[in-house]
Amino acid sequence: QPVLALDVGGTKLAAGVVARDGTIQSYCQIETAVGEGPTAVVKRLLDLGEQAAIEAGWSGRGSAGAVEAGGSSRGAAEVPLAAVGVGCGGPLDPATGVILGPPGLPGWDAVPLGALVAERFGLPTYVENDATAAALGEYRWSGWGVENLVYLTVSTGFGGGIVASGKLFQGAARQGGELGHVVVDWQGRQCGCGARGCAEAYVSGTSIARRAAEAVAGSDSTLAGLAITAKDVADHARAGDPIARAVWDETTAMLGRMVAVIINVCEPELVVLGGGVTRAGAQLLDPVREAALRQAMPPAAAACDVVLSRHGEAVGVLGAAAIAYERLG
Ligand code: ADP
Ligand code: ZN
Repeated sequence: QPVLALDVGGTKLAAGVVARDGTIQSYCQIETAVGEGPTAVVKRLLDLGEQAAIEAGWSGRGSAGAVEAGGSSRGAAEVPLAAVGVGCGGPLDPATGVILGPPGLPGWDAVPLGALVAERFGLPTYVENDATAAALGEYRWSGWGVENLVYLTVSTGFGGGIVASGKLFQGAARQGGELGHVVVDWQGRQCGCGARGCAEAYVSGTSIARRAAEAVAGSDSTLAGLAITAKDVADHARAGDPIARAVWDETTAMLGRMVAVIINVCEPELVVLGGGVTRAGAQLLDPVREAALRQAMPPAAAACDVVLSRHGEAVGVLGAAAIAYERLG
């Protein structure tokens, strides 16, 4: 039986039905519109999940529920779903499925997302940090052929997950692998977590845009007058705007240094980068890979490579599905 997978990001919501071998049977996504607040966003997430489930041929609330409801069964076309996996920006509690105020989702303090999803679909529901989930999805379904892998998502926020010796690293409170808050400059920018100089304060799409907006104020940059996004910074840097280029270069330098730390600590065979900002492609990967492998300890660097995820926008949905299969056993 396939699972339904939901991916909650600060920019987009995605949903899909995923088979046990990682085949995506349906996929849809919409804008998060985070300003609408958690109640409205969760409602649209649940509707999107239902749309993905129906597109894959699902016809009712859980395999038992569909029969009990009577008459709605579509016989051979009916696809019973085994569970729902949910990936969401952290912090969150994977044991209870409660979201605990992620910086990228303002107002999501103590939102019982797992319970709301379980209620809507009548299925066992498993919630996990989106980047942690994506690490497991990359390990299971990307065919990298490695046992030690670190995944980093450079999206609205910045986070990561660790697979070590073929197992997801979780930690004592099941919130370990919180790589977004590795400090790259102890006197650096204020981070949403309260500390200074975290990688997230430089590397997330939000902070790329914010730093560019600060740098552009009063300048003749080609970014002036725009409601700047990380994509704008990437585009204008490529086109040669010096301010956009300075912000982009600082971003890749900070990410490269952070990845070097991760390579030293974990000695993974692979660091996989995903998330919306990695759509910049080689413009992001090349300088990050060069800086990381140059600054890491030579034996660790020699054993490692830094690559982009092959899954594009679906990486979050695959991750959430991987978590559902992992917890189903
Ligand atoms: P979410 O955080 O909701 O999962 P995404 O992974 O799509 O969403 O990340 C959104 C971020 O990606 C935004 O900050 C956006 O500006 C950035 N982005 C999208 N396309 C590009 C691009 N081509 N180059 C750089 N950044 C991009
Ligand atoms: Zn932080």
